[in-house]
Formats: sequence, C-alpha cells, structure tokens
Amino acid sequence: SPIILWFRRDLRLTDHPALAAAAQTGRPVIPVFLRDQLVDDLGAAPKWRLGLGLSALSDSLERKGSKLILRSGPALAALEDLIRETGATDVYWSRAYDPESIGRDTQIKAALSAQGVTAKSFAGHLLFEPWTVATQAGQPFRVFTPMWRAVRGREVDAPKPAPSRIAAPRSWPQSDVLEAWNLGADMRRGAAVVRAHVEPGEAAAFAQLDEFTERLDAYPAKRDDLGDDGTSGLSEYLSLGEISPATIWHRVQSAGFSGSSGAEGFLRQLVWREFAYHLMYHTPHLLSANWKPEWDAFPWNTDTDTPEVRAWTMARTGIPVIDAGLRQMYVTGRMHNRVRMIVASYLTKHLMTDWKVGMDWFADCLVDWDPAANAMGWQWVAGSGPDASPFFRIFNPQTQAEKFDPTGAYVRRWLAEGQKNPPETALAYFDAVPVSWGLSPTDAYPDPVVDLKVGRQRALAAYEGRKHQ
Ligand code: FAD
Repeated sequence: SPIILWFRRDLRLTDHPALAAAAQTGRPVIPVFLRDQLVDDLGAAPKWRLGLGLSALSDSLERKGSKLILRSGPALAALEDLIRETGATDVYWSRAYDPESIGRDTQIKAALSAQGVTAKSFAGHLLFEPWTVATQAGQPFRVFTPMWRAVRGREVDAPKPAPSRIAAPRSWPQSDVLEAWNLGADMRRGAAVVRAHVEPGEAAAFAQLDEFTERLDAYPAKRDDLGDDGTSGLSEYLSLGEISPATIWHRVQSAGFSGSSGAEGFLRQLVWREFAYHLMYHTPHLLSANWKPEWDAFPWNTDTDTPEVRAWTMARTGIPVIDAGLRQMYVTGRMHNRVRMIVASYLTKHLMTDWKVGMDWFADCLVDWDPAANAMGWQWVAGSGPDASPFFRIFNPQTQAEKFDPTGAYVRRWLAEGQKNPPETALAYFDAVPVSWGLSPTDAYPDPVVDLKVGRQRALAAYEGRKHQ
C-alpha cells in the first residue's frame, strides 16, 4: 500500500529523512502539498516564493519518476480524501515547530491513528531537535553563547542522499494546478522585479552553497560589509527547506577541517537559527507577545497608519541607510542582516513603534521569511526578547552607515534620488512599489521624518519613565 509523503517547508529530495524512510520501504510514494489555512495566511512575498519552490520541487520529483500532488482545504480532510482514493496506509512528514503547525499536526496524528493509519513525523528542519539541547539544570537555553558552546562539538547526522527513484502508485490521484493557485496574487507588480533576484529550488541551493564555500574564509571579515556582502545568501533556501541545515553544517565543517578560518564563525551563525527555533518551541509566545512581559506596559505605538510608520514602510524616512535597506527588501526580497538590525532599531526606538508592526511588514516582504528568526530578530533588537540587546543601546543609523558602508556603495546601490545616473538596482524600487504611491526617481529625497536626536531622546525618556513605574 502507498505512503503519502506530505511536503511542507521541506521542498527538497536530498537529506530528507521522511522521504528517505518512505523510499526505503520500496512501496509506492505519493508526494503531496496541501494548501491549507496556514499557507493562505502567509505574507505576500513568502507565499509567492513558495509557489516558485513548489514548481521546482515538482520538476525534481518528475525526474525521479514521481509527481507532486496538490490539494486545497483543511489538511486533515484533504489527507483523508487522499487515503480513501489511494488506499494509502501511512502518512509521513517533516516536523514543524511553530505553535500553529504543532497544533494542526498533533490533531492530525491523533485522528489518523484512530482510523488505523500510521502518521509519522521526522526530523530534518533543524540540526538539533529542541528537546535534545538543555542547560545542566535541564532547562532550555535562554542565552545564545552557552547554547553555542553546548552544541558546537556535537555530531550531526550525515546528510542522506536523494533516492535514485521514487516508486509511483499504480494510478495518480487528481491534483490541483499550481498556476491556478495564483500564490503570487498579493505581490501586485513587485513580483517581476523580485523574480530577477531569486533562483528557486534545491539545485540552486546547492550551487549557492558551493559558491559560498569558495569564499568562506572571507566570511568573518565581510559579514558586516554592506557594500561587499560576504554572507552566504542561504536563508531563503533554509526557510523553505530547499537545503537542509545538516547539509550546510557538514560541508562547512569539512572546509573548516581543511583549514578554512571562516567555518567556526559561520556555523555559530547557523546555530542562531537553531536558537530561534528552540525558543519558539519552548516559549511560543515569542511569535506574538513581548517575550519579557514587563515590556507590555511600554508605550509603543501600534498604529500602522501614522506618517512615521508610513514613511518607514515606503522606505522614505529621509535617513539614507534605513531607506536603502527597506528598498533592498522591496527589490530583492532580502535585506542584509546588519541593516535588518538598523531598520528595526530605528522603528522600535526612534519611531517608538511596536516591534510587531515591523515583524508583520517583514513577514509580508521577505522571501526568506522565517517565523522563528523574524520574531527573535525583532524582539532582540527591541529589547523585549531573550538575550536581547538592551533598549537603551540605540543604534545611530548614520554612525552605523559610516562604519559598515564607509564608501557609501550600499546606499548608492539602493537610493536613486540625488544621483545623476542611478544604477538599475536603485531604479527598480520605483517599479516594485504600487503605482498608487506616485513615486518617481526624480523626486526630491525626503527630509528626515524624525530628527535623529529628537527620536533618540524621545525613546530614552519613555524607557526612563518605564523604569519608574
Ligand atoms: P549568513 O550570515 O550567511 O548566515 C547563515 C545562516 O545562519 C542564515 O541563512 C540563517 O539561517 C542563519 N542566521 C544568521 N543570522 C541569524 C540570526 N540573527 N537569527 C537567526 N538565524 C540566523 N532570518 C531569516 O532567515 N528569516 C527572517 O525572517 C529573518 N528576519 C529577521 C528580522 C530581524 C529584525 C533581524 C535582525 C534578523 C532577521 N533574520 C531573519 C536573521 C538574519 O538577518 C538572516 O538570517 C540573514 O540576513 C540571512 O542572510 P544569509 O543567509 O546570507 O546569512
């Protein structure tokens, strides 16, 4: 009898423990992707990017003699239909760790088991399952560095090769048509612009890893260089599971063994992703509320429709490095990590706006959107999170720009206003934003929406006020 392999955020064939287990049985495998509420709830850019990933996965399955079946509706009902239609007796999937997926999966596992169907979940999205890493007192880590020390010497399972063939069922169940799902519908006119910067799929992920391994040595020196980005560019592949973290870990570790000096620093960064996932698993309110509840009384603005927040979302705050970062996100769907910190600090401090407003905006715009990394990143910068940067340490965007973009190359790449011959990257922003914003590259660059000194003092005063409550 066939095994249903339910793909979710694990759109790959290599190092896919659930697929490897299914293929090993020699039984027919029916790969499916279900468009349920959690998919419909995704932000515009992640949903559009998911569509590209599904198309690439479907092609690679066909090369293995298989197929990707698409169904819509509540996941349990969709699986039950498929079980009835195909006679499948098992459903396999890779574990997810966010509270909504856990709720859904737990319910499905119980319901299917009650019907005599084997529902099995597998690892694969993380290096270390959240329940396997703990402090000496048996508690989950709340601080990053001790967690890093605890895991850096651990064994990580060797990546499993992709199956050479995937046995097909005698007949395929009916499938929706991917194009008809129109997963890019909310991108409006931005999709064509972002598309030029996105190379979806597992093969592209491996190519990116190969290319990055060549420049691993330069990672520590260049990871904060805005003009000459030395980071890996792997986040969007990790986000959709087009590559596994174990594959990256093993490749980078072996480069380290053969003398690459960048390996340790890079693996440490990869473990920040684990830290975010473990926090989300153990304290799921990370996604939706101040991780430290004492921040609930802080007078953050939650209104998304103020001139200040509008200037931030439109990338027209009048502070060049802030606007450059937000425009990079519009045009490419990604933003340099250093600039994510700078724009987040500016929104939550100079503009005194709740980090959830920024988190939601990122969730709509990033092709590498990840629930855990996004929430942790925002709470870290805002000061409300675990192991967070203290609120009173307010980044000065101009000083940051002088330090990390000393030649101004990054700002010139993304801001057209004031340049005689702006580069295409800077002009692309005007094609990516809605026409209704009425923006043109020949417009004057806006004055600062808030004076940096005034914004800083306002934030510090609110912070002092909170201490005396
Ligand atoms: P590299 O420097 O090459 O790092 C390699 C990998 O390590 C990354 O792909 C990522 O998986 C992991 N990693 C690195 N830094 C972090 C970090 N600080 N937290 C968690 N994991 C990390 N990352 C996302 O993947 N999705 C998000 O939605 C997201 N939102 C963020 C929001 C804010 C406010 C901040 C400050 C950070 C956010 N990050 C997010 C983390 C980080 O900015 C990105 O992972 C990084 O910029 C991706 O580029 P890269 O793959 O070239 O990184």
